[in-house]
Amino acid sequence: MKSYTLQKPKKLVLETLPSQAITSKEFVKVKIDLAAITTTDLKIFSGKYKVPTPITLGRQAVGVISEVMPDNVNFLQKGDRVIIEGFLPCGECYFCKMGEKQKCENMHMLGYSTEGVFSDFTIVHQSLLHPIPDQMPDTTAIFAEYVSMALNIVDKLNLKPGDHVAIMGASKLGYVLAQLVTYYQGIAIAIDDNADQLEKLAGENINYTQNTTKANWKDNISGITGGRMCEKVVFLTESKLHFNDAIDLCGKNGTICLAGFLPTYEKCDLTKLHRRQISMVSVRNSQGNFPAAINMLATKKVNVKGMVTETFRFAELPEKLMAMTPDETKYTSIQFRID
Ligand SMILES: [Zn+2]
Repeated sequence: MKSYTLQKPKKLVLETLPSQAITSKEFVKVKIDLAAITTTDLKIFSGKYKVPTPITLGRQAVGVISEVMPDNVNFLQKGDRVIIEGFLPCGECYFCKMGEKQKCENMHMLGYSTEGVFSDFTIVHQSLLHPIPDQMPDTTAIFAEYVSMALNIVDKLNLKPGDHVAIMGASKLGYVLAQLVTYYQGIAIAIDDNADQLEKLAGENINYTQNTTKANWKDNISGITGGRMCEKVVFLTESKLHFNDAIDLCGKNGTICLAGFLPTYEKCDLTKLHRRQISMVSVRNSQGNFPAAINMLATKKVNVKGMVTETFRFAELPEKLMAMTPDETKYTSIQFRID
């Protein structure tokens, strides 16, 4: 078994370990074929996010079930192609016991608080695996996490047809969220400083995009919304904008959703938030909507083709991570094959 293990910030080592056996029939072994690098992985690699080391990095992967217990009772069988969920509910807190795993109080993230997937083989609890339709390529299926998280955001927002939804950050999550908002008949307004990414979104029929390098972008949103500003605002934790911008964009009695796993916020204008009677909701994980997300990708309600920019091989991982470290928030999907 080969795994890329982070020993300390910026030091990734390829470890070869003896093959592990499955010891419980709730678990199966997966041969990982394709993995993707997330912004969080990059921030863990560079030391911006602290993790217990050594740890195997990575939380997004697609593979094939290579081994099950002889008395396997799972619906998944050897040879099934699957995507691995990157968030692992604790199973013990109040919400887990009530069956509301998306609300878990001690949610683990693979490659952050528990071992990750940058490995040729991994042993996984079957509840974290979802079958992929035959016709769907690995390079598409691997986006299911972003779609599932975007579905969680749409649920929390209580989106209504005709709602203006400002999406602050056109990252991979922002990219799929804008398409989902449109699918559910909201009016998506994608906001970013990356002109290429906004142009790609315009190609996915997102009619309203705003580039924050232009001085009048907030005035333009006032114009789009008839002066009322947005009923819903989504502030992605990786946005380079300030949270006060989210308050400015949100109309009276609107809702702001904070979305992302590892937030860091500065002080914000609570007086303005209160005066406008703005409601706040939060989404921190992709738990709960994977089957729906895979269906959204299969039926092309969400298109991710424009996001895939580079694919490389497993052996190149350390040098690629090092090269990407100076700017973790470039919004491209970097995937690699694991042989
Ligand atoms: Zn829990």
